[in-house]
Amino acid sequence: MCIRDRPTLLRRGKMGTVQGDPAWRLTDTGARIDPLSLQQAPRQASVLERLHKSPHELPRKELDVPMGVLHTMHGKGWIEPLQQTAPPKDAANLVLKSNIRLSRDQQAAVSAIRDSLGEFHAFLLEGVTGSGKTEVYLQVIESVINQNHQALVLVPEIGLTPQLVDRFRRRFPVRIALLHSGLSDRERLHAWQLARSGSAPIILGTRSAIFTPLQRPGILIIDEEHDTSLKQQDGFRYSARDLAVWRSRFCRIPIVLGSATPSLETLENVNLGKYRHLILHTRVGAAGLPQIGLIDVRGKRMQDGLSPPLLAAIQRHLDADGQVLLFLNRRGYAPALICHACGWIAHCERCDARMTFHASNHQLCCHHCGSQRNMHNTCPKCGSAALITLGQGTERVEDALASHFPDHERVRIDRDTTRRKGELESLLDKARSGHGRILLGTQMLAKGHHFPDVTLVGIIDADQGLFGSDFRSSERMAQLIIQVAGRAGRADRPGEVIIQTHHPEHPQLCLLIREGYAAFAKAALEERRATCLPPYASLALLRAEALRRDLPMKFLECAQSLAASQGTQGVEYWGPVPSPMERRAGRYRAQLLLQAPRRSDLQRLLRLWVPELERLEHSRQVRWSLDVDPQDTL
Ligand code: ADP
Ligand code: ZN
Ligand code: ZN
Repeated sequence: MCIRDRPTLLRRGKMGTVQGDPAWRLTDTGARIDPLSLQQAPRQASVLERLHKSPHELPRKELDVPMGVLHTMHGKGWIEPLQQTAPPKDAANLVLKSNIRLSRDQQAAVSAIRDSLGEFHAFLLEGVTGSGKTEVYLQVIESVINQNHQALVLVPEIGLTPQLVDRFRRRFPVRIALLHSGLSDRERLHAWQLARSGSAPIILGTRSAIFTPLQRPGILIIDEEHDTSLKQQDGFRYSARDLAVWRSRFCRIPIVLGSATPSLETLENVNLGKYRHLILHTRVGAAGLPQIGLIDVRGKRMQDGLSPPLLAAIQRHLDADGQVLLFLNRRGYAPALICHACGWIAHCERCDARMTFHASNHQLCCHHCGSQRNMHNTCPKCGSAALITLGQGTERVEDALASHFPDHERVRIDRDTTRRKGELESLLDKARSGHGRILLGTQMLAKGHHFPDVTLVGIIDADQGLFGSDFRSSERMAQLIIQVAGRAGRADRPGEVIIQTHHPEHPQLCLLIREGYAAFAKAALEERRATCLPPYASLALLRAEALRRDLPMKFLECAQSLAASQGTQGVEYWGPVPSPMERRAGRYRAQLLLQAPRRSDLQRLLRLWVPELERLEHSRQVRWSLDVDPQDTL
């Protein structure tokens, strides 16, 4: 290979590894140390702090401490010098060759993607958790870097864990620009510059990183493509997945969408022949897929949401030295507080919603607007002291687990236990190390984490997802069940998954369990086709809200007449109607849904309609927003 083909990075000698004075970076262990805990060692604390804030390694000059301090910290395993290698003879040395032997499926996937480098191609890489998707990304990225191009990898917010970053760092001794919501403006700018100048061959980020400028784009990868956090829900609404596909077509580079549970939209694109389907059929190593079983909880004596068969299964797995993971997508102690004497229920004053009781701070809390108030001692309506809590959240289940299994340490992971910096990491550590025997959590626990010792996964309440009011509820439920189930029986231990439900005959649930996600997705797509919903139609949702109840509806009625006057061939209307939760945070909300079997019809209407909306009477009295391809219609 001639010298011109070498990555510019090497030509300019910017490997961050100047011989004799290496740059330093945090190790995985170091990343978990809170600098504040090092008050006795202020210089070490300052090094940690700087490295925490920096998206890449830093030279000693910038760390501004004597070498001895760095050596001490290196000795503790907190930091490490960036590998000192002689400048490589050719670019292929840039990445450390992995000595992993790819499975046949992985090999096929890597070859297909590699062969497409330099052109636009869309791939769906489907494989359950642990089937080796990330390894496929890494091997493809290796080729991309060797061709002196850049790889942009997008993961959901919750997936950008230190483990993932560490895996990339260990594999590629090159600059990696990290982009996530926790960066300061300066850090973000710096990461952008690394990407734009081309000096970072890898850009690893969350959904907003789709806008990162690239000097020499080579590939786009979206991990967990089904994950809804890929769509920004507030302000400027965009789907990072759709943008990414558009961008790779524009740049003429391949895009890889990876998932264990692909979205129905993506599967339809496979059906249409637009995306190529690459499948990793088995898990790496001996790990088989877990057995999934339903527990019919009808008529069973439940103890804080746990049925006797589930309790027995937990005991059985703990006795056999397994780890147990329980999933409940509801935080707090109980989702309702009711007066046993008169039936009064604690509602939020600003929303059409019930207050959730949180035992930890003895507060009632609204999960929709965030307002809080002190727990009542007596009923505000009748004065009775007989206030009782109904239903269960993670706090309550944790209490119940503590009394049933007092000898087994529990780890609860939800928004309440992970508010402070570093808490999530330390809880995940406890879970991963096997210290915590019973893991309990909301979807924060369901996604992307690897717990090799888990042998039992329990889904405490599947009914929540089965009867959601949004048309995507069942798709989400299925994805979640498969994702959570993917946590069981990794490594060499067989896993078991137990789902509690009042509806064991629910057809979609049964199909999912008997035949798997692909069969579920096929049936769900047929249903979408019959009801003319995405991906067989395009939707746009016009939302409006105001302090006065009548205004949103008035605005939307005007908006609808306007559209009617502009000609609406091919587009149907639903509404305007008050939103399912009409009042939120003190504002009344309403919505108008547009539905078009042909996207071009919808686009034509939107082009005429949207610029005129501002001029409508009431448009200044309401807050309105248009959501094209809404992720939910709530
Ligand atoms: P996924 O991204 O699908 O969850 P990973 O790529 O993380 O899967 O693979 C799961 C584990 O198996 C990782 O520890 C990875 O290093 C390892 N692994 C992946 N592919 C192979 C392979 N071909 N041979 C051996 N180990 C592998
Ligand atoms: Zn009362
Ligand atoms: Zn509220």
